[in-house]
Amino acid sequence: MEKLISNYHTHTYRCGHALPNPDIDYVNKAIELGYKNLGFSDHAPLKGIHHPSMRMDFEKDFPGYISSIRSLEEAFKGKINIKLGLEIEYYSERDDYYKELLNDYHLDYLILGQHLRYDSNGDMDLYWRHIDDFEGIRRYVDDLILGINSGYFTYVCHPDLFLNHVKSLAPEVLKMFEDICLAAKKMNLPLEININGDTNNKYWALKHCCYHYPSVEFFKVAKKIGNKFIFGVDAHAPWDFDKINYPYFDEFLKETGITSSDILTELSF
Ligand SMILES: [Zn+2]
Ligand SMILES: [Zn+2]
Repeated sequence: MEKLISNYHTHTYRCGHALPNPDIDYVNKAIELGYKNLGFSDHAPLKGIHHPSMRMDFEKDFPGYISSIRSLEEAFKGKINIKLGLEIEYYSERDDYYKELLNDYHLDYLILGQHLRYDSNGDMDLYWRHIDDFEGIRRYVDDLILGINSGYFTYVCHPDLFLNHVKSLAPEVLKMFEDICLAAKKMNLPLEININGDTNNKYWALKHCCYHYPSVEFFKVAKKIGNKFIFGVDAHAPWDFDKINYPYFDEFLKETGITSSDILTELSF
């Protein structure tokens, strides 16, 4: 695999679970490693939802996030292309909000990162109650596909994240792989090979379960269906850019059959 020159999946301290470094530390690290493009896509605020360990707050954090990234974009012009985005779940009942983010707040892009839901009281509502809860996983995949079809998103983050809740690749799961890949293919949305799934998430997943993302099994299906791919660091600390295990991903690509012509190295805006 070629060394990355772009990463559009970068968090900041505002989400409450990334390291407390200032935004500029991510920029300096990316420049040091020769990146051409750096997109910030912190976990989006949701109006009326206060979830300090998961996402920034709409009133408290969002204005500062916009001004910080836009001023870095200006300050580093000519050295690195900085873009302003958000990682956000798709909730069909909030459909207007995505338009607002793109049109009123002039964000450069949104990436679809489906993690969890909230109930009508604003409390977290995980899709699944236990491992191999196929009904819960199906609800997750249905929401993900609604997001893919909505037209608001530039790419799909960790499309195989739900494998953290799967112990066996039952036919139900394989069918869900296909449904996601076919929807993304139809909408021409790249699927992310999430590097953080390898660097930070894998050990948790293997301890609690049998599968983790990014998954060879999922991406084999995606390759067969003819999807396009993009790598995402999903950085939660500046040094996550340094922790990419290139030999691991060489092997990953070999096993899935994905070649460099299937992978986007940068996005156009
Ligand atoms: Zn995510
Ligand atoms: Zn992320």
